[in-house]
Amino acid sequence: MARGANSFLMQMTDCIFCKIVAGEIPATIVYRNEHVTAFQDLNPKAPTHILVIPNQHLASVNEIVDDASALAAGECLRAAREIAQQNNLGSYRIVTNTGADAGQSVFHLHFHLLAGRRMAWPPG
Ligand code: AMP
Ligand code: ZN
Repeated sequence: MARGANSFLMQMTDCIFCKIVAGEIPATIVYRNEHVTAFQDLNPKAPTHILVIPNQHLASVNEIVDDASALAAGECLRAAREIAQQNNLGSYRIVTNTGADAGQSVFHLHFHLLAGRRMAWPPG
């Protein structure tokens, strides 16, 4: 199945982040434009923990395969930078887990924007 058709089906079914984009389930939205929605993580891992997601359903980095998906991903990073600037985050970390073994639990591409504490390296 073509990615576009699959994305459409996902938006019609059970993707929790598509439902947040559509306003069908609640979230504390902190930023939104035509490409991107950003909201507070439900289970924060740092004093600032915001999820930045494309409005278009992409399951993960593995679906950044064409100009539209690359634009969507790039707009997420641009939005993350703007959110960091608006909130005076001097240092911050952007993380995207890709695949279950890397820690991905929601299969709609998202960038974790983490700040407000000292970060360890390497991540576990
Ligand atoms: P990952 O494990 O990298 O896929 O990240 C998924 C993130 O989504 C986790 O940090 C969860 O706490 C967060 N999360 C799951 N459901 C919701 C929700 N309904 N609203 C906000 N954050 C959520
Ligand atoms: Zn989705």
